[in-house]
Amino acid sequence: MTRVFEPVDSTWCPGCGDFAVLSSLRKAMAELEIKTENLVMVTGIGCSGGIQNFMLNYGYHALHGRLLSTATGIKLANPKLTVIAAGGDGDAYAIGMGHFMHTLRRNVGIVYIVMNNETYGLTKGQPSPTSKSGFEGNIEEPFDATLAALAVRATTFIARGFSGKPDQLTNLLKQAIQHAQQGKGLAFLEVLSPCITFNDTYKLWRQITHDVTEEQDYNPNNRTRMISITLKVLESGRIPIGLIYRSDGVSYEKKVLPNLENTPVNTDIDIKKNLSAYKEILTLFK
Ligand code: SF4
Repeated sequence: MTRVFEPVDSTWCPGCGDFAVLSSLRKAMAELEIKTENLVMVTGIGCSGGIQNFMLNYGYHALHGRLLSTATGIKLANPKLTVIAAGGDGDAYAIGMGHFMHTLRRNVGIVYIVMNNETYGLTKGQPSPTSKSGFEGNIEEPFDATLAALAVRATTFIARGFSGKPDQLTNLLKQAIQHAQQGKGLAFLEVLSPCITFNDTYKLWRQITHDVTEEQDYNPNNRTRMISITLKVLESGRIPIGLIYRSDGVSYEKKVLPNLENTPVNTDIDIKKNLSAYKEILTLFK
């Protein structure tokens, strides 16, 4: 018998930061009253990619670094769905880096959660693009995704949460989901989510995270000011968290499909009615 909407038990290590993302996401979904049948999660390869198996909604585990293409396709096929893409820092900023930058640029109306633990946890702790210099022999400097996202002028929502601050995380998740649902575009939310087994950063991140909303000249609608604040915080050795940038854009799907009744999901694909069209398509492959 086929079982649907049946979440499986988590396989994460006890104490993994991804548990906080899961519980905040469930809470945000409940508080926003999003029905499970209207939510699709597309996840990447890595420990964090398992999150869609532990939720009570539709999900798809995509190819490594290619979850954003799949999520974009789903959103364009049915813009009324809430589409959440979720993966790790390796999937996003190494294997999927090109897709990450171009999806930011397109401003597709999806939520993208990147669970950043500064390592490849699933393959036992190798350095990732966000690892500090010195971690496991790493000699490279870390990549900061919020600063990179600020540099893409089409971005409309940039935030960073921390698994150690679940209330702030739930709040950011709710704002991100609402941003995407309102057709303003892509909501990018990075979550500092420690890998307790191979890179336990809980204590360090409690000390060095800095909420940007505490800055005197904080203004999340002003890109120039937020680039300056983000850079200043990073250069002082801290990590900026909180809502970093938000503006009222127009999402990619709204530009491509201005008439929501005329979307692929509403297309009549009845075989009998469309037989001649199907035959015509088949001739193209002969
Ligand atoms: Fe989490 Fe690390 Fe365990 Fe993976 S290996 S489940 S990232 S604690």
